[in-house]
Amino acid sequence: MENNRRNFLKKSALLGLAGLAANLVSEEKLNTLTGIVRESNDGGKFSLPALPYAHDALEPFIDAQTMQIHHGKHHQAYVDKLNAALVNYKGDQTFEGLFSKASKIDVALRNNGGGHYNHSLFWQFMKANPKGEANLPVGKLADTIIADFNTFEIFKKEFSEKSLKIFGSGWCWLIEQKGKLKIITTPNQDNPLMDCATEKGKPLLCLDVWEHAYYLKYQNKRADYISAWWNVINWQQCENQFISE
Ligand code: MN
Repeated sequence: MENNRRNFLKKSALLGLAGLAANLVSEEKLNTLTGIVRESNDGGKFSLPALPYAHDALEPFIDAQTMQIHHGKHHQAYVDKLNAALVNYKGDQTFEGLFSKASKIDVALRNNGGGHYNHSLFWQFMKANPKGEANLPVGKLADTIIADFNTFEIFKKEFSEKSLKIFGSGWCWLIEQKGKLKIITTPNQDNPLMDCATEKGKPLLCLDVWEHAYYLKYQNKRADYISAWWNVINWQQCENQFISE
């Protein structure tokens, strides 16, 4: 039984994401970008990906204690609960499989699958910028933001406003949808790869606006957290995602 599951997971990991949506990246690339590791030799369990920087690297914009708790406790809990929920799940256990059936699967799979994937992406889309030096998009993504939003400032304003207006917990995303850039939001741990998302597309940037992402440093001031976060966006990583097949 366990061997069958292992083989199934191994096979699933090798399959592409082709069926999900025309403009999305493959499961393999999804995992490469996010740093998500899922080894078949431990029963196919997901594990918490290491942060690509130290806990205090995003200071002074995002504090070390928030990062320790957000990554080490909250993200870890999504991973653990996802693994627990997968034990008795007979369907396709890849992200492609889970997200394409998000509206139909158990809510624990939807929330924790989304939680693991979204956070893994979120860490990769940030980098250190201790002195708060100018931080702007690069490459083809920079050009496309200008083409689709007119100016970076207009883009930034729209993204910030949408992030601020999310009621309760959720995420703001920059996505590519049929060749166009779009700013969208999702509630809870949903994401634009899920069948239930009102706007679907390839995620190019994401911002977590759950209170656990900012409350220790910013308390109720979500706007200040959003404003600080622009300093630590890893635009090169967003560009890598944008130009990946
Ligand atoms: Mn979070």
